[in-house]
Amino acid sequence: MIVTIDGPAGAGKSSVAKLLAERIGFRFLDTGAMYRAVAWAVIEQGISWEATNQLETLAKGLHIDLRGNRTFLNGDDVSEVIRHSDVTTSVKHIADHAEIRSHLIVLQRKLAEGSDIVTEGRDQGTLAFPHAECKIFLTASMEERARRRWDQLSEKGEKVSFEQVLRQQNARDERDRARDFGRLEAAVDAIHISTDGMQLDEVVDTLEKLVREQMTNLSQDGRMD
Ligand code: C5P
Repeated sequence: MIVTIDGPAGAGKSSVAKLLAERIGFRFLDTGAMYRAVAWAVIEQGISWEATNQLETLAKGLHIDLRGNRTFLNGDDVSEVIRHSDVTTSVKHIADHAEIRSHLIVLQRKLAEGSDIVTEGRDQGTLAFPHAECKIFLTASMEERARRRWDQLSEKGEKVSFEQVLRQQNARDERDRARDFGRLEAAVDAIHISTDGMQLDEVVDTLEKLVREQMTNLSQDGRMD
């Protein structure tokens, strides 16, 4: 069974998807981490963001693996470094690159082969797994999303203002929504959930209920025997 969770930056997708996957015993795929890992490799190698062919060659030669909640790039654990703000601001160049997107979608499908998964990103229910059995579109108001991100960054000791976080988040969302291929949008059959004012556990409870209902429906239809 495949559960997709898409939505804008800061809606809580990663935390929710991770906890949901643990509760229902599914594998968790953080597809944003894959885009970030490629961006990190580009920064490390000092390749220009304009050198689109070089970016593609580099991306296709990388070995990216998601194990548990960790992200590995050519065998190294890059889970922390890919969260740095220089990666966050430059990952758009990778997300906009249609060939790299196609390549990462192939990888995502390979990682999902033979497992029950909860996958989160921007295009999981639309492009990567259009036949997923359960699709969620997770949102929250832009202020609430920015406040959560700002809290996280402040906890880590990063000195940024709330306004700056809000501005960057809006720019990232606009760009994610405007992309020709792999744009951020809800699948037509996605269930929309707004997490405004909800605690993390409440969101996970809601999703777990939805997924379990869907599992029951599928097993009654004979699709999960
Ligand atoms: O979710 P996260 O913020 O880690 O994702 C990093 C970036 O990767 C996003 O800003 C988005 O542009 C891109 N992304 C994407 N498609 C996905 C997952 C992430 O374009 N499936």
